[in-house]
Amino acid sequence: MLNIIIFGAPGCGKGTQSVLIIEKFGLKHFSTGELLRKEIEAKTALGMEADKYISKGNLVPDEMIIDVITNAVQQLDADCKGIIFDGFPRTVKQAEELEKLMNGLGKPTTVLIDLQVSNRELISRLLTRGKTSGRSDDNLETIKKRLDVYATKTTPVNEYYQSLNKYAAIDGLGTVEEVFERIEAKLR
Ligand code: ADP
Repeated sequence: MLNIIIFGAPGCGKGTQSVLIIEKFGLKHFSTGELLRKEIEAKTALGMEADKYISKGNLVPDEMIIDVITNAVQQLDADCKGIIFDGFPRTVKQAEELEKLMNGLGKPTTVLIDLQVSNRELISRLLTRGKTSGRSDDNLETIKKRLDVYATKTTPVNEYYQSLNKYAAIDGLGTVEEVFERIEAKLR
């Protein structure tokens, strides 16, 4: 199995690149942000609780997201070629739980792909996206908060995967196709 973690700051292109990777390698997509936004839209108890954190640019609590991922992974078809985790893990605690879960299922993670983009470019991309995304967190104040949370709580996940020898850094600047070619070259 090819079990990839696509990683990087808000606006780095994780979602966009995930779609291309899935098409090429036939993987299943798990985006925690998307899963949570669906819950919010459906106004479920989980969604209402998650929205309190998301709209302020904070992370939702680890336990909540670990439950969501555990359920999703356990429902996978037996013939699944692999998974792409998008927006997860976002804390070292989540990473440790993911490793336990996947190793326990005999489906270990393959690699974390760290899409690197400067803060200046990230802010510009997110503000542009905010004009059409309708997302409550794509405004300047919340974007700054998300980048802050990313720097303090999420970047340590990089070191964790470096220590496992499952880490690849990719330059996230350039066209969608250029970035995808870099990722594909790494995966092959
Ligand atoms: P982006 O990468 O642009 O921030 P996402 O869709 O991945 O977009 O996430 C949106 C929001 O959903 C995050 O700011 C956070 O509040 C919440 N979220 C998503 N994934 C996680 C996670 N793994 N742990 C905690 N919170 C999460």
